Amino acid sequence: MTAMIAEKTHRAELLDGRVAADAIKREVAAEVAALTSRQNVVPRLAAVIVGDDPASAVYVRNKIRACAEVGIASEHLPMPAATTTEELLAVVNGLNENDEVDGILVQLPLPKQIKEIAIIEAIDPAKDVDAFHPMNVGLLALGRPRFVPCTPAGIIELLDRNQIPIAGATACVIGRSQIVGKPVASLLLQRHATVTICHSKTRDLPAIARQADILVAAIGRPAFVTGEFIKPGAVVVDVGVNKISEADQARDFFGSDAERRIEAIRQKGYTLVGDVHPAEADRIAGKRTPVPGGVGLLTVAMLMKNTLQAARTRRNL
Ligand code: NAP
Repeated sequence: MTAMIAEKTHRAELLDGRVAADAIKREVAAEVAALTSRQNVVPRLAAVIVGDDPASAVYVRNKIRACAEVGIASEHLPMPAATTTEELLAVVNGLNENDEVDGILVQLPLPKQIKEIAIIEAIDPAKDVDAFHPMNVGLLALGRPRFVPCTPAGIIELLDRNQIPIAGATACVIGRSQIVGKPVASLLLQRHATVTICHSKTRDLPAIARQADILVAAIGRPAFVTGEFIKPGAVVVDVGVNKISEADQARDFFGSDAERRIEAIRQKGYTLVGDVHPAEADRIAGKRTPVPGGVGLLTVAMLMKNTLQAARTRRNL
């Protein structure tokens, strides 16, 4: 009877991305201030955005705003949607040569006519604050990273700052993308978790995911990870950012938060949901990251940390 009541009243603790992101930004701001006063160095980030994708515009705006918050100088370089690979390469090369610029960020995805790989490979690895250049990918795989990609680095920070033990834990990462799934699996492994990586061809995914003490979902499908994927008490990290616009879906996904989400759909036309079914995760998980307000905020904070690090290492400080 007591167990039944406990199960009914159980609700996963939310791992607040804002608390961790604000703490990281405060630390970065203090280090930037010290670098500026002692060495007369103001770290500088250049953010290139091609075309007018509204989501990319929001991401870049948030990154520029975060720079201002922590004292990093920034330049916003918008380019037209019809930009060619050669034109973008010329801009990247200019930023590589500009000694004032410490970090270069080319917002992805790029329009189809641009060869994304050629752009990523053109960025000076010492200024590659997104850590997508093959040299930085290789260093991370070897276990001696120079830069760690921002979202995976943010996930580890969030776990650490909430005292979630990684060493010895069973971890499952759903998704094997270059920017989230693979690097976060690599970092968890380096921190001595026992890691399984799952993807669209994995057989009996819920049974594998259900073994995990730490479950990371980076899939891009709304509320895909339902209760049957989650081990009771597990830590669930939801990386997905998906828009939904149906009130019925919001009612299914959000439990007691549904009315507020339906109101958001009425006003904006959509609300955001992760790759994890929030109401079901709340019932079973021990802790989970919310969407919005979780991993996404850490991504921007880690970009600030990488830019500070670029400014230091480029000057051997
Ligand atoms: P991606 O490149 O599209 O990769 C998705 C991965 O999910 C792939 O490895 C794919 O498997 C796997 N997958 C797709 N359907 C599946 C299924 N039915 N069962 C099992 N695995 C499945 O996506 P991404 O760039 O990693 O992004 C994932 C999500 O995270 C997106 O919602 C994105 O918006 C979000 N995101 C958030 C942040 C942030 O800062 N919060 C940053 C980056 C991304 P295959 O390899 O077999 O195709």
